[in-house]
Amino acid sequence: MIISLKTDANKAQIQHIITFLKERDIESTDIEAADGKVIIALGNTSKLDYNEVKGLAGVNDIHELGKNYTLVSRDFSKETKVIDVDGVKIGGDNLVVMAGPCSIENKEQIERIAFEVKEAGADILRGGAYKPRTSAYSFQGLGLSGLEHLKEASVKTKLPIITESTGLHRHEVDGCEEEHDTLHNVIHYTDIIQIGTRNMKAYGFLEEIGRRTKGSDMPILLKRGESATIDEFLAAAEYLVKNGNPNVILCLRGIRTFEATRYQRYTSDIAAISVIKQLSNLPVVFDPSHATGDRALVKQLSMAAVAAGADGLIIEAHYDPDNAASDGAECVTADVLKNIITDCKKLKNML
Ligand code: PEP
Ligand code: MN
Repeated sequence: MIISLKTDANKAQIQHIITFLKERDIESTDIEAADGKVIIALGNTSKLDYNEVKGLAGVNDIHELGKNYTLVSRDFSKETKVIDVDGVKIGGDNLVVMAGPCSIENKEQIERIAFEVKEAGADILRGGAYKPRTSAYSFQGLGLSGLEHLKEASVKTKLPIITESTGLHRHEVDGCEEEHDTLHNVIHYTDIIQIGTRNMKAYGFLEEIGRRTKGSDMPILLKRGESATIDEFLAAAEYLVKNGNPNVILCLRGIRTFEATRYQRYTSDIAAISVIKQLSNLPVVFDPSHATGDRALVKQLSMAAVAAGADGLIIEAHYDPDNAASDGAECVTADVLKNIITDCKKLKNML
């Protein structure tokens, strides 16, 4: 619930409203919003007597959002949040492109791809060190050494990096040693933390990430769960913001429908981009690679996402897609990436 205050509401009146809410087990805080002072009441406000709240001194109006999210909503802030990653602004006028391999395979591979995607016009380098694989027998990622290679590639190319955190602990795997706090390692090396589709509803993990990054500027890219509704997706983003990190980027990457997966890996939720831009104040990016699972479809879907209002794209790229350690079928080469970025930026400028 958002309680807008009268322009002449004084400190004592504001404190009285906050105490009134606290006595009813509702956390609240007063902030300066774009259109004046407001009190944000978080929690179950359904039992409040709205007329009683409206009658409190200093209250101008109340807006019951009726949703599981407040802080990430457009009602909370009319302006889209602009997230600055080493000077790359996500959510502003420019289209931001993140590109790189699905997984980091070795030092030479990530370095070569980093230079290639930079030359192609990408703003941010992606690469997975901890891979959430469907099969326990598939390559699980290099772990800590992968993060080190990614960071070195970032230093050499001066591209900020994004990589996924899949959990808190990793047992010995693929010849890599046991890691006791993989989230700590990701936070230490990366510029943006990615939370994958499989973890969107891991609420305890979301809380942990929000708390551990509280007060830092570390952005988090949250992918939509493959069977999550738009409301569930925004409610998950609220966990991160409520627990201390407001720098959240929403990422659509296709959802599961009745469509046969032999045609496209998931069904691209392009219209959801426009819908979420109306509902939420967070920047929205689209992942055409995991959505389609097919490099032949990546350009079309990238263009469609930009036309729908996406603030950015995250695209898998590899110099040898057919021999990539994971997701080769959807990886594009650098020349294709360059063509996608050129045309998508042109399209963005036309909007
Ligand atoms: C990825 O980006 O490499 C990935 C595993 O994505 P998703 O969580 O969308 O499947
Ligand atoms: Mn992948």
